[in-house]
Amino acid sequence: MAFRDLLEELGDWTGKVRGRLSSNFDIANFTWFRVGGPAQLFFNPADEADLSYFLKNLPQDIPVTTIGLGSNLLVRDGGVPGVVIRLSGKAFSSVSVDDNYLVKVGAAMPDMRFAQQMARQGVAGFAFYKGIPGSIGGALRMNAGAHGDETKRRLLGARAMDRQGNIHKLSPDDLGHGYRSCSVPADYIFTEARYQGEAGDPEALKAEMDNVAAYREENQPTRERTGGSTFRNPDGMSAWKLVDEAGFRGFTLGGAQVSPKHTNFLINNGDASAEDIERLGEMIRGKVREMTGIELHWEIKRIGSFLDGKTVSPFQQN
Ligand SMILES: Cc1cc2nc3c(=O)[nH]c(=O)nc-3n(C[C@H](O)[C@H](O)[C@H](O)COP(=O)(O)OP(=O)(O)OC[C@H]3O[C@@H](n4cnc5c(N)ncnc54)[C@H](O)[C@@H]3O)c2cc1C
Repeated sequence: MAFRDLLEELGDWTGKVRGRLSSNFDIANFTWFRVGGPAQLFFNPADEADLSYFLKNLPQDIPVTTIGLGSNLLVRDGGVPGVVIRLSGKAFSSVSVDDNYLVKVGAAMPDMRFAQQMARQGVAGFAFYKGIPGSIGGALRMNAGAHGDETKRRLLGARAMDRQGNIHKLSPDDLGHGYRSCSVPADYIFTEARYQGEAGDPEALKAEMDNVAAYREENQPTRERTGGSTFRNPDGMSAWKLVDEAGFRGFTLGGAQVSPKHTNFLINNGDASAEDIERLGEMIRGKVREMTGIELHWEIKRIGSFLDGKTVSPFQQN
C-alpha cells in the first residue's frame, strides 16, 4: 500500500526544511503494537522554528497528525493520509529545574526517563511516570496518570503550536484536563510542559520508582506488543472487569489477543493486523453492551484509514 508522493507536490519551499521529511514512511515500528500502514509524509522537525516554518507553508487542507512514543496508539492498515509529525532529538527533550523546583521539559522526553532524571536531581512528584511508557507530549494529550497521580496535578502550563505554526502558551485552564482527556484542539502540537516539583530524597524517589516498576511487571503485559489501556473506565467501574466478565480473558481473534494477564490490554501476538486488533476491540464492546447495557469507549487513539474493503464497523460481532 503506497500513497501519492506528497513531497513531490509540495514545491521548493520544502528545501528549507531542516528536519527529516520522508514519503510513504513506515511508522508501525514507532508504535507499541507494531502494526499499521505508512505515513503519507513523515516529518521529524529539527526544532520549534523548523516546525513553525513547515506548518505555515503546508497547505491548510493537508491533515496533520502528531504521534509520540505510540504507546496508546493504533495505526490502521491503510496508513495515515497527510503528514505525521513526531518530535524527537535534543530540541524537544531538554529538561531544566530552577531553584524553586520549577521544571521545564520538552514534549519528546520519555516519561520514564523524565521520572529517573527528576529522582536523580532530588525533585519529587514525578515517580508515577516511571510506569508510563509514553512521552511528555502524549502525557499532556492524554492526562496520563497512575498510582493515584496524574499529569495535571503538578502542571503549570504547556507550549503548543497550532496548525498555522503559531505558538501558544497554555494555562492549566486552557488545557482542560479530565480523565485521560484534554480540551486543546486535536491538531495542536505540544512542544514543552512546565511543572511545579518539590524537594525530595533521591534514594526515596528511587525506591518509589522501583515499586512502580515492580507493580507494572507483576500486573501488566509490559513486554508485549500492546497499546496500553484499551478502554476508558466507565464511571465507578473498571473496564478490565467488564471485559473479563464478558469472557474475553485470553480470547484471540486472528493475531490479536486479550491479555491473559490484564484484560484491558490487547496484544499483537506477532502477526496481527490493525484490523484484527480493532475488530477484537469492537467485538468486546458489542458483547459488553449486550450483557450489561454499558458502552465502553476506546482510550487507545486509532488513526489513519482502513485498507480498501476492510472497514471495521463499531460493535461488529465476527
Ligand atoms: C504497557 C503500557 C502501560 C501503560 N500504562 C499507562 C498508565 O498507567 N497510565 C496512563 O495514563 N497511560 C498508560 N499507558 C498509555 C500511554 O503510555 C499513555 O497514554 C501515554 O501518555 C501516551 O503517550 P505517547 O507519547 O506514547 O503518545 P501516543 O500513543 O503516540 O499518542 C497518544 C495521543 O497523544 C497525542 N500526542 C502525542 N504526542 C503529542 C504531542 N507532542 N502533541 C500533541 N499530541 C500528542 C497523539 O496525537 C495521540 O492522540 C500505558 C501504555 C502501555 C503500552
